[in-house]
Amino acid sequence: MSPDEAAAYMAEIAYHLRHKQDQHRARAFSKVAAVLLRDHPDLEAAVRADKLESLEGVGSGIARVLKELVETGGSEYLQRLREETGAAPEVAARITPLVESGYQGDLHCHTDWSDGGSSVLAMARAAQARGYRYLAVTDHSPAITVVNGLGPERLAAQRRVIDEAQAQLEGFTILQGCEVDILPDGSLDLPDAALAALDLVVASPHFKLRMERPAMTERMLKAVNHPEVDIVGHPTGRRPGSRAGAEYDFEAVFAAAAANGVVMEIDCDPARMDLSPELAEVAFAQGCSFSLDSDAHAPDQFVYVDLALWMPHRARIPTERILNWLPIDRLQEVLRG
Ligand SMILES: [Zn+2]
Ligand SMILES: [Zn+2]
Repeated sequence: MSPDEAAAYMAEIAYHLRHKQDQHRARAFSKVAAVLLRDHPDLEAAVRADKLESLEGVGSGIARVLKELVETGGSEYLQRLREETGAAPEVAARITPLVESGYQGDLHCHTDWSDGGSSVLAMARAAQARGYRYLAVTDHSPAITVVNGLGPERLAAQRRVIDEAQAQLEGFTILQGCEVDILPDGSLDLPDAALAALDLVVASPHFKLRMERPAMTERMLKAVNHPEVDIVGHPTGRRPGSRAGAEYDFEAVFAAAAANGVVMEIDCDPARMDLSPELAEVAFAQGCSFSLDSDAHAPDQFVYVDLALWMPHRARIPTERILNWLPIDRLQEVLRG
């Protein structure tokens, strides 16, 4: 078993443990997944030498799971977790490393312009070092005041900084986006002119997620019918293990999004994993396309996408239906269209 495949198992185990509110163990499995992706250890050799526990973060419990994976190609522990959380069973699919599989760039991340910790240039360089060809910087809009969101003037100032960063990079494109709040009435938290000046618009629900189902449906329908919206970010706002997502008429909203060419995000932040594989499958059946994004607030969080690669596999979504696999010129055509 390759380290990438083992990492996918570790990441999925972490996902189910979060659902079971076992955050401590969830973090331990997530961490080992990231270590496997980073270090690419020879797992077969480690099993033969009885050295799994010398891998960073691997204690006796995780070592047992890894050993079973290497020896049998599966995990009874994961199978049991899937049954307990009501998840769909495994789909036979080979997990190919992200960039090798053709992933071109991340369409949702934050910088120190809002609640991220790094500059535009630092994020772009980190993305390029991963082998990406582009990165969309999507800082917050002003509605959630705690994150220092950007209004039209700061967006214009940020555009100049993005242009300066772009001038220092070759073979790599920085797109200016914004993660704009979907307000309770379904309108967006920035004027249309400010949205039209951006390369892409991610519209996300962040607050008032417990609205009654009909009102929430109206709210989401209005957002996916807005002509400037390209992507719906973390479409339910759920937090596995701590907060249920918004409830709305998913079929109706997904169908309207598909009709308008609005893409549904699979947000790979382990605290979100939103859409879930189950809802992503519903959206796919309604004709939606997708984006697979880290929502990174720091360079080391780009790895969230590697750790969530099993999700589109589980939802049986081919990469042809995920924006991040498009080369930059095709992506820009889609975003303009
Ligand atoms: Zn968000
Ligand atoms: Zn975000």
